[in-house]
Amino acid sequence: MLAAGCLVRVPLGQREVLGIVWGGAEPPDAAQRAKTKAIIAALEGIAPLDAAWRALVEFAARYYQRAIGEVALAALPPQLRELDGEQLARRQKLLAQRAAKPVSAAPQGAVDSEDGVTLSAQQSQAITDFFAQTPAKPALLFGATGSGKTEVYLRCAAQVLQTSHQAQVLVMVPEINLTAQLLARFNSRFEPIYGPQAVVAMHSGMTPAQRLKSWLAAHTGAARIVLGTRMAIFASMPGLQLLVVDEEHDPSYKSQDGARHSARDLAVLRAKYQGAQAGSDCRVLLGSATPSLETWHACEQGRYLRLAMPERVGRGAPAALCVVDMRQLPKKTLFAPALLQAIAQRVARGEQALVFLNRRGYAPVLACSACDWKSQCPHCSAYRVFHKTDRTLRCHHCGTTDRVPRACPECGNVDIAPIGRGTQKLEEQLAQALGIHIVVQARQGTNVLTGMGMAATDATTDGPPAALPGPASPPDGSPTALQRPEGSPAALLRPDGSLAVIARMDADTTRLKGALEQQLANVHSGEVDILVGTQMIAKGHDFRRITLVAAVNPDSALYSSDFRAPERLFSLLMQAAGRAGRDAQLLGAQMWVQTFHPEHPLFASLKAHDYPGFAAQQLRERTQAGLPPMSYQALIRAEARSQEAAQAFLQAASEAAGAVEAFEHVTLYPSVPMSIQRIADVERAQMLVESSSRAALQKFLSSWQASLRATKVQGMIRWAMDVDPLLI
Ligand code: ADP
Ligand code: ZN
Ligand code: ZN
Repeated sequence: MLAAGCLVRVPLGQREVLGIVWGGAEPPDAAQRAKTKAIIAALEGIAPLDAAWRALVEFAARYYQRAIGEVALAALPPQLRELDGEQLARRQKLLAQRAAKPVSAAPQGAVDSEDGVTLSAQQSQAITDFFAQTPAKPALLFGATGSGKTEVYLRCAAQVLQTSHQAQVLVMVPEINLTAQLLARFNSRFEPIYGPQAVVAMHSGMTPAQRLKSWLAAHTGAARIVLGTRMAIFASMPGLQLLVVDEEHDPSYKSQDGARHSARDLAVLRAKYQGAQAGSDCRVLLGSATPSLETWHACEQGRYLRLAMPERVGRGAPAALCVVDMRQLPKKTLFAPALLQAIAQRVARGEQALVFLNRRGYAPVLACSACDWKSQCPHCSAYRVFHKTDRTLRCHHCGTTDRVPRACPECGNVDIAPIGRGTQKLEEQLAQALGIHIVVQARQGTNVLTGMGMAATDATTDGPPAALPGPASPPDGSPTALQRPEGSPAALLRPDGSLAVIARMDADTTRLKGALEQQLANVHSGEVDILVGTQMIAKGHDFRRITLVAAVNPDSALYSSDFRAPERLFSLLMQAAGRAGRDAQLLGAQMWVQTFHPEHPLFASLKAHDYPGFAAQQLRERTQAGLPPMSYQALIRAEARSQEAAQAFLQAASEAAGAVEAFEHVTLYPSVPMSIQRIADVERAQMLVESSSRAALQKFLSSWQASLRATKVQGMIRWAMDVDPLLI
């Protein structure tokens, strides 16, 4: 008889696959036994996955409406499926030998002044309060950018690890790009105490072999700290006593395929199961300067503990907000003259500027250029999305559909267009306006300069090069003679008299391996004066000489069909502002925002660095509209050969729902095409389900599954449920 949680090999058809012995099933009857095949072999030497881990997987499967086997196997490193027992045993032994260095307890007193850092009063208070509460509730570390949240994570980890030789800590970060930075800090703190294996990484950028190694280290207890992206939530950590979720508001904690789980939400659950198993508290620390409204609401209700750290440590004042009213400027202005001037001033002083746009991932909402009209849904507090293919406006919440009006319904102006257009040529225009160089990525990964104000013409750039005067960059990416385009302003110079340089960083320019690191290094070294990019440049990176950050066109997020867009924008702008003035020596950091809607309450809150005020206003709106976190949602998404088939499937599912349990407690909305309606010739549609009760929604979804599986529509490809969807 094998214990629950044992890893085994089982035959499946011609193949042999990895399985996990799952407890709790009824003993098979004779007929089932005849169908069930014998387990070939247990993976000797690997300890069973413990009850808390299995409880987490079971919860995730139930809550996100997937099969247990699917979630469990996806949670294990892929290479575990390929190696046999003997190979694994050998790896474990190797691991154990290397970890053999005796584990010393931290020297007494070290916790108070590690790395020579003396905690600020608010850091000490936060740590004391965090450990003081019993039983432990999840805690939110609500700390401004630069308030020293990382130091708090380090101290909390140190405190937990000291309690026993088995204690383990899980630290999650939203992006792979941020793991290296944090890993270095954790390593330098904990390697001297716990040895070279103490901290392991876990993210999808690792090779299968590296992932297996980290997984085994965590599973055997050799690793005391696991640091990773959302996948790390499923790491097997028998001694887990503390979970840290850094930047807990970040949407990348929600997976967009498979079970579509939220690693942040699972962290809270995992702590509960772990605590129950160990019979002592397992704590969760969620950190953010701009928490998700879900987490903030939980604090307001007293379900979570709030630990506030409003002050930055040892830094200059936070960046001042400058809001530019674009209505005062000529139409189609991309850069306000005042902004250009401010950028030029900074560069001339030897400082750096960061200019970003956030047009990616937003559905187009129509707006009138002459008045305040936007394509608001008459029935929802949401904007309707412009669907180009059939020229309709559709509400993704309730499905209300109209033809696109010929002219503005309010003022008759015919110039109505999607918000956020005309941003493609930002880099070129900025370079031209300021008379500076553009850095392009050459094939060998080195940087070269093209002529002033010229489009980057290498293979990694999309779109045709701008038709600007000046020599074209040769196709091999070698440097061209520098030449000023006619009619451009005098060249912008640095304090040392050299020409200023601009570079662009986005998904296109960072696709090549190592490109991102190279580009970041160029900014750090001062080779680049102005960095233009998508919102990816606003996150986390510590650029010391940046004193000006500008958001060029944030309006699409103010009036988005997605009710979470303002929340994300606020967070993005706060974070971006935190990029400026990291160096206390450089005074007068500024955050610029260009907008057609300067009266939007978001900007007033931003100006006052007032997240609580912003959150209160948003929560009021959500309450009035019955939106999350006051209600609970799920989406079913259908993919089919035609839009009709996708919608017919959802329609049939909707009709079948009447007979489903808890139907009276949920609202089903009509199906709508997704905002990106067609991808690679697959048509996509979605339908929203909503309830004021999480339990009722859960009950409904799980019994609805059966009728969805039974629904057959010709041309359907697949469907999936997304529980607590983040993008509507
Ligand atoms: P956050 O994550 O809250 O934005 P960090 O943890 O990155 O802030 O801290 C910002 C900077 O302040 C880091 O360079 C860190 O080393 C430093 N720092 C943190 N706590 C202290 C402290 N108590 N004394 C001095 N410097 C500190
Ligand atoms: Zn109008
Ligand atoms: Zn609507």
